[in-house]
Amino acid sequence: MAAFKPPGQCPACGEWVTRGSAACDDCGACAKSGWKSDTNIYDGLDLPDEDFDYDDFINREFGRPAASMDRRLFWRIVAAVLLGVMVLGYLMSAK
Ligand SMILES: [Zn+2]
Repeated sequence: MAAFKPPGQCPACGEWVTRGSAACDDCGACAKSGWKSDTNIYDGLDLPDEDFDYDDFINREFGRPAASMDRRLFWRIVAAVLLGVMVLGYLMSAK
């Protein structure tokens, strides 16, 4: 494929690219990408790519909520123990 140079129709999406444009306004294709539509327009979104690590994804997506669940369970146990101690103390003093 011959190198595209603006002005002209974008080889990726067919939109008109004006003279001096570094990239297509419509699809984000640019000279660096070889004027293909799947280009830097999504670079900032941190999308999963070919070396997608499923375990890492699960850890990132569910690691924090699971940890906070553990913390909630921990405080529930602490509260139960404190309540038990208080009830025990009340029963002892009631005698
Ligand atoms: Zn385009």
